[in-house]
Amino acid sequence: MSKVALITGATRGIGRQIAVTLAKEGYDIALNYRRENEESESVKKEIEESKVQCLAIKGDVSSFEDCEEFVKQVIEKFEKIDVLVNNAGITKDMLLMRMKKEDFEQVIDVNLVGTFNVTKNVISHMLKARSGRIINISSVVGVSGNAGQTNYSASKAGIIGFTKSLAKEVASRGVLVNAVAPGFIETSMTEVLKDEVKEEIAKNIPLKRMGIAQDVANVVKFLASSDSSYMTGQVLNVDGGMLM
Ligand code: NAP
Repeated sequence: MSKVALITGATRGIGRQIAVTLAKEGYDIALNYRRENEESESVKKEIEESKVQCLAIKGDVSSFEDCEEFVKQVIEKFEKIDVLVNNAGITKDMLLMRMKKEDFEQVIDVNLVGTFNVTKNVISHMLKARSGRIINISSVVGVSGNAGQTNYSASKAGIIGFTKSLAKEVASRGVLVNAVAPGFIETSMTEVLKDEVKEEIAKNIPLKRMGIAQDVANVVKFLASSDSSYMTGQVLNVDGGMLM
């Protein structure tokens, strides 16, 4: 029986690359997305090229009810979830002086509360199975902080605390929980940055380039595999050496 991976926010960027990479490894894929569009259609087709099953479900991770519903649908179709990747995330950058309360709350609601909402609905199935992998996508700025990102950094630091606490709660039941902290990765999230800003960022990265989604997907693949079976509660930076 194939393993099943659920990836949130998987229509583009890092989430999409994780879904496609795990499909190539033979996982059946359940993917979640927020908005129906060309990308939500095309990712399913790309995954099915790997001859695995794919279930694509619409749902907002910041809504507990949506998460309850889409996790139910995944269980109905596949009967289990072996790997959960909490990837869905947003930014609303602004200096704190100018940040509206809604901008702070929205980012926390999607990135941190969303991670809780999905995990809360998945965990009982993993505990019953006495196995499972949860991989949370944090960020290096959750460790280092970043001007203009108090909301985002707080959400990503929260994910690290969540990861370590849950890892301690569920280790004895065979469920491993780790986080990946990407640096600057080329996706639509960072597309908004001006070229000069990107060049400046790359100059300050020891490996002298921004990362690509595949760099992150490769580490997620490792954390989902039996090669990482003695690792839990860890945060792996995928950042070209930005944070040491
Ligand atoms: P992206 O290209 O903007 O993609 C984000 C994905 O999340 C999209 O599929 C989006 O779907 C989905 N999403 C957003 N809000 C959602 C919600 N409420 N419910 C369900 N899905 C939702 O971003 P990315 O760069 O790939 O980032 C992926 C993850 O990596 C995020 O957690 C991000 O914080 C983290 N990260 C990224 C970088 C970077 O440099 N790119 C660095 C560190 C960490 P829609 O298309 O429907 O909006």
